[in-house]
Amino acid sequence: MLKLFNTLTHRVEEFKPLEEGHVGLYSCGPTVYNYVHLGNLRAYLFIDLLKRYLAWRGYQVKHVMNITDVDDKTIRDSSQAGQTLKEFTEHYTALFLQDLEAVNIRLPEVMPKATEHIDEMVAIVKKLLETGHAYRQGDSVYFKISTSDHYGELAQLAGRELKENADQRLNQSDEYEKENVNDFVLWKGWKPEDGDVFWETEIGKGRPGWHIECTAMSMKYLGETFDIHGGGEDLVFPHHTNEIAQSEAYSGKKFVNYWLHNAHLLIEGKKMSKSLGNFFTLRDLQERGYLPILVRIVLLKVHYRQNLNFTFAGLDEAAAIARRFLDALIDLELQTGEAGNQLDIDGLVAGCRDKFVAAMDDDLNISIALAAVMDFLAEVNRQVKKMNAAQAAQVRDFIFEIDQVLGFVRVIYDDYQDRLAKVSADAQVRELVDKRAELKKAKDYAGADAVRAQLSERGVTISDMPGEKYLLRINYP
Ligand code: AMP
Ligand code: ZN
Repeated sequence: MLKLFNTLTHRVEEFKPLEEGHVGLYSCGPTVYNYVHLGNLRAYLFIDLLKRYLAWRGYQVKHVMNITDVDDKTIRDSSQAGQTLKEFTEHYTALFLQDLEAVNIRLPEVMPKATEHIDEMVAIVKKLLETGHAYRQGDSVYFKISTSDHYGELAQLAGRELKENADQRLNQSDEYEKENVNDFVLWKGWKPEDGDVFWETEIGKGRPGWHIECTAMSMKYLGETFDIHGGGEDLVFPHHTNEIAQSEAYSGKKFVNYWLHNAHLLIEGKKMSKSLGNFFTLRDLQERGYLPILVRIVLLKVHYRQNLNFTFAGLDEAAAIARRFLDALIDLELQTGEAGNQLDIDGLVAGCRDKFVAAMDDDLNISIALAAVMDFLAEVNRQVKKMNAAQAAQVRDFIFEIDQVLGFVRVIYDDYQDRLAKVSADAQVRELVDKRAELKKAKDYAGADAVRAQLSERGVTISDMPGEKYLLRINYP
């Protein structure tokens, strides 16, 4: 039974979808004005893990993630770059998709852009105006939170906290004049600095506020009530709090059943963020020679509700994990025997599967799930030499099956094989390998060992196999 921590109730709850076997999932996507950083990637990887596990458990998942391609920052930076809003945001959307691919995140079924859903947003704002949940102030439209029954429930805000939160936000440039400091903007009337970014609509000339985007796009693709909404914990207030208020005021129905939030990625104890400037992007790490897929391991292996401190030592640990999977797969491939034996591979696999499922069912406890898989690999390592071909294949299949959830083993394995093929085809490496074979034939073992050392200097390890065959391994990752 899958259980998830629901921010709305502050409890771990059994997950029951609206429709048996199907899950509607919405997660807040990027504002495309810059590269995403590792903190953002933690949020996207958390959703990816959730999706992969749901799919692995047999659910059919429909995932929607928006692209915020109009807001103060995209307008400001596109104009500074001398580009149209569209050119500018398309550029960063493409880079975002590259980053998702680099860490093997499965793309959402729907990736709607805010600028392509203005009509839907306007229709919602119009109805909120008609029903008295919204009011005009100048050329803008605000949501009136005093009309919302449970405002702040998600963030567990009581009256006093609500006021403190509001006071902090008073200085934000995004806020226009309004009746109550907590009221939030639904539609922003055009201002000269918006330049040519505006829509002429029934509710006036302007552009949407941030919160209304997610309400309009999630409802359009998932219905007025859907199963899961996720994002980083910084979105609980005000973003998700406001999404709930306006969506429920609009539809009169419960908006979302399960709210899931990931904790922050920290660096030296502080939230990694663009505004603090304490961030790394995937490209920064690639420039330092790290494989992007290692970032997936680093960010996934800590439970999503725990703060995680980014360190380079963490990347090295991830590399060690990658290597253990790789070595196990290579060792398994070498088992070609047919003989029967006493090994209980069914029991070994079933034991690991049970532990993996129990941990993941417990609010996606990946740390324990991954530890169970690492213990399994250690046991495989003890038994592998005795396995016959069929048993080795069974273990390999299981590792790749689990990787449907983990999402890094196949990437690492394929990348390794590509690199190994290149190294094996390298003329100098081939020459050394042939030379060593000749020296061995001539029983010049000292000479053969010297060649082995030369190969080793190139990151290539050679080991002899039965029948004058040999195996090359390369340093990796
Ligand atoms: P933003 O582009 O700031 O709207 O953020 C995109 C996603 O990344 C949101 O779900 C944020 O909550 C999440 N996020 C931003 N910074 C961090 C961080 N340091 N750790 C984890 N998630 C983050
Ligand atoms: Zn959102």
